[in-house]
Amino acid sequence: MLRIENLHAEVDGKQILNGLSLDVKAGEIAAIMGPNGAGKSTLGYVLGGRPGYEVTKGSVLFDGRDLLALRPDERAAAGLFLGFQYPVEIPGISNVQFLRSALNAQRRARGEPEVSAGDFLRITREQADALGISMDMLKRNVNVGFSGGEKKRNEMVQMGIIDPRLAVLDETDSGLDIDALRVVGDGINRIMRKPDKAVLLITHYQRLLDLVVPDQVHVLAGGRIVRSGGPELALELEREGYGAMAA
Ligand code: ADP
Ligand code: MG
Repeated sequence: MLRIENLHAEVDGKQILNGLSLDVKAGEIAAIMGPNGAGKSTLGYVLGGRPGYEVTKGSVLFDGRDLLALRPDERAAAGLFLGFQYPVEIPGISNVQFLRSALNAQRRARGEPEVSAGDFLRITREQADALGISMDMLKRNVNVGFSGGEKKRNEMVQMGIIDPRLAVLDETDSGLDIDALRVVGDGINRIMRKPDKAVLLITHYQRLLDLVVPDQVHVLAGGRIVRSGGPELALELEREGYGAMAA
């Protein structure tokens, strides 16, 4: 479903991704771990098509399509969702407005009819209830005045409504208390644990991987994947640290 080959990318002339290769099949959850500054968030931004992140070499295929040739909005319409390490606040736009226009833009791009007001409300209620976000909060401006944990749960509400095929979740667990972590972990499983979907789960912590058990675990260091394994690799990292793997 996602095939990254020999990806090189730079930001502001600084080379950050350095020959990264990764293969994720439909139905799989791939955990990406690795030391600070390894390039994990950069990988997410490159996949999402954030301006300023320049791919200098390599390829990314999403369902066999050249992902890097698509504009960011086309990538989203193709089913890619990015959950941010630091969700942005958007003053002046309410969550519901934002979600409804995002959902409808994607549906239009796919040649599907727009969602009706009633259906949108129903979907939004379902997702908000499941993630412990009140409808009042969804009427507020996007993330404005939300606590760290509320922002992360709000990202999951977005994901539930958008219903993507491939989610890149960048430290969605950071800053969450134990209860919120469980809510978020359950949300990821509920929304994304499906045979036709896949997740890149960027995390530092085993406690999320206890809830969302990965099919593959990869260590990203120095802009490339330096080790890969199964769930046991995450346990080993927790015991022993990145040590010699840190570039
Ligand atoms: P991670 O998410 O793994 O902690 P990042 O992808 O955020 O790492 O960053 C990788 C490296 O790229 C870091 O050394 C960071 O300082 C550097 N970096 C990120 N953004 C920029 C930028 N705009 N200009 C220069 N260096 C950057
Ligand atoms: Mg990061």
